[in-house]
Amino acid sequence: MARAARPCVLIIEDDARYVRLLGTILKQRGFRTLSAGTGVRGLDLIAAEAPDAVVLDLGLPDVDGLDVLERMRQFSDAPVIVISARGDEADIVRGLESGADDYLGKPFGVPELLARLQAVMRRTPQAQVQIIPPFESKDLRIDFAAAEVSVAGEPVRLTATEYRLLQFLARNAGRVLVPDQLLENVWGPEYVGDEHLVRVYVSRVRQKIERDRRNPRHLITRPGVGYMLRRHESPHAPASA
Ligand code: CA
Repeated sequence: MARAARPCVLIIEDDARYVRLLGTILKQRGFRTLSAGTGVRGLDLIAAEAPDAVVLDLGLPDVDGLDVLERMRQFSDAPVIVISARGDEADIVRGLESGADDYLGKPFGVPELLARLQAVMRRTPQAQVQIIPPFESKDLRIDFAAAEVSVAGEPVRLTATEYRLLQFLARNAGRVLVPDQLLENVWGPEYVGDEHLVRVYVSRVRQKIERDRRNPRHLITRPGVGYMLRRHESPHAPASA
C-alpha cells in the first residue's frame, strides 16, 4: 500500500527546543518531519529520504550550515529555508547564493516559517504541469514541460526559486520587468519591496546561464528599471548587447 502523501520536511538543527517546536507544529499541519542534529546526519537524510523541503540552521556543531547547503545542492533540488541566529546579512546573502530558497532570522514566528515553507514548496517545478514550447535563444534552452534548462546543450542545475525566476522572465521575454513584478509572481505578494532578494537571485541565475556574468547576453539589467530576458530571434543575430 502506498504511503500517505504527506509532505516531508527535514529539520537540520542542533537546538532541541527548535526541533521540538517545529516538529510539533509541522505535524499538526499535516507534514511528516525528520530531524538531524548535525550537518553530516542531515546530508545522509537528504540522500536517503529525499525530503520535500529542508529547514536548515546555519549554526551546527560539526560543519557550517552553508557547507551543508553547498553539498546538498550537488544532488538535491529540495527547497531550503535557512535559519540563522547570527542575524548577519552577509551570511544570509551567502545562504541565498549557495542555493537557499528563503531565510529567516532567529527568533522567528512560527506562522512566518509555515507561510514561507508552504510558499517554497508551492513553487517547486515538479508541482507544475505545462504544455508550452521550449524557450530557445542562442545557447540558452528552457524546456518548460520538463523544467530543464541547458546552456549550449549542457544541463544547468537551478534551485526551485531560480527556475521560477528564469521561467517567469522567459514567459515575458523581451519585456522589462520591474523588481516588484518579479517578487509578486515568483515569490509572492508578501515579498514586494525586497529588491535585494531579486538582485541576489538575478546574480545567481546569471552565474549559471551566462558565459560572462559581468557582460550578460541573456538576462539583461535595465538600470533603474528592472530586468529582461532577451530573445535572440536568429542564431545568426549580432551578439551586441
Ligand atoms: Ca544551532
